[in-house]
Amino acid sequence: MENIDKIIAHLKSQGFVFQSSEIYGGLANSWDYGPLGAEMKQKLKTLWWNYFVRKNPYNIGLDSSIILNPKVWEASGHLNNFNDPLIDCKSCKTRWRADKLIEEKHPDMNVGGWANAELEKFIADDGIACPTCGKQDFTPIRQFTLMFKTNQGVIEDDKSTVYLRPETAQGIFINFKNSQRALRKKLPFGIGQIGKSFRNEITPGNFIFRTREFEQMELEFFFDPKDGQDWFQYWLDNVVKFLETKLNFTKDSYVIRKHDEQELAHYSSQTSDIEFNFPFGRGELWGVAHRGSFDLEQHQKNSKQDLTYLDPTTNEKILANVIEPSVGVERLMLAILCNAYVEEQLENDTRIVLRLPNEVAPYNVAIFPLQKQQRDVAEKLYNELLCDFDATFDDTGNIGKRYRRQDAIGTPLCITVDFDTENDQAVTVRERDSMQQERVKISDLNNYLKNKLK
Ligand code: ATP
Repeated sequence: MENIDKIIAHLKSQGFVFQSSEIYGGLANSWDYGPLGAEMKQKLKTLWWNYFVRKNPYNIGLDSSIILNPKVWEASGHLNNFNDPLIDCKSCKTRWRADKLIEEKHPDMNVGGWANAELEKFIADDGIACPTCGKQDFTPIRQFTLMFKTNQGVIEDDKSTVYLRPETAQGIFINFKNSQRALRKKLPFGIGQIGKSFRNEITPGNFIFRTREFEQMELEFFFDPKDGQDWFQYWLDNVVKFLETKLNFTKDSYVIRKHDEQELAHYSSQTSDIEFNFPFGRGELWGVAHRGSFDLEQHQKNSKQDLTYLDPTTNEKILANVIEPSVGVERLMLAILCNAYVEEQLENDTRIVLRLPNEVAPYNVAIFPLQKQQRDVAEKLYNELLCDFDATFDDTGNIGKRYRRQDAIGTPLCITVDFDTENDQAVTVRERDSMQQERVKISDLNNYLKNKLK
């Protein structure tokens, strides 16, 4: 896999990702998605939504608010527990996440669930130094809340304090009963949601891997624990199937890592992370957690509302259990882009290709007139193709350059209208990966392209 700096430079130059607020000197670790990045993001979200919500026989979707009643975060435990261990370098004053300082030096270690005293002792015993100044002079660890706080309304006091959500999941739990009743859903069923989440991360970084504002795609799947099905395995298998069949992930690009007892969140009996081999090291991509009935129980207790499900056959009241597959849109997008980026040595040239899966490539076809004389015919064809395809048009530079430009942004198929088109009513279609070309009748073009893009 290529070096991350090369990939970042490429994505910036091609209009996928820009430094946010660049004309004002930027804002640390904030990124804007350019025209092609925005397209790719939309497509990725649609792909997830289709797979996990629309085309799944059990599931439905939801779109809840970013700002919720603060009692939600009290009940979920976020106000008390959503913290990371912060450690300061006394010498250069930079701040670090203590667990990540250790894991960065020892990539095979996982210190999730360690107490602060254990982390402090390890950092001291192992001689871990500040990555910025190289000194070994740290403060004790203290807990740092990741919740972004703001005020709602015109008066700024404690009563108006609200939070930007740090996950989309709680918006689903608080709407469990509404959704179940309105749609007359029977267990088991899931509710999916895509939306922005905010975490005041201590050490954001690695490009779009860890940012303070990001999007999540989360599914909360509710079931009766007595139904005897292994829903955890079912959803873990589905996540793997999605990655491999929809996004072309190879088995050697990721590992499934099961959390050990110590690392498990207190409410979870089972969690596995799919970790991807990013160019900067292995990192969590997608978490699948068994949350038991923790969230519904907490919200039932705190809201004093009945959040049980009445089993229509047994008349028994059930507090549903939950499996949660959760992934970040940008993190998944980064993994796809790292997989796709290839620098290929040709006979007397090199080319950069993004071998993107068809369904997430910003454009799926590009149309070129070979020369000015074919411009009108090519433009007419382009306008027709726009009805069925995400097409782009390019008539600048020589044909070789135009192919390279489309390779660089991952367009799977290029169509050239040339001198012969008028005579044979056909065009040349060239494939991104094999670079092979085929002559196709315009009357067959629509079906041909649809077939190729399947
Ligand atoms: P990490 O250990 O990397 O901080 P986490 O275990 O806190 O992640 P979860 O709370 O399980 O993450 O969030 C679910 C998913 O949301 C993650 O697997 C990841 O894909 C994404 N995600 C979490 N935090 C961020 C972030 N700061 N930036 C981008 N994506 C994120």
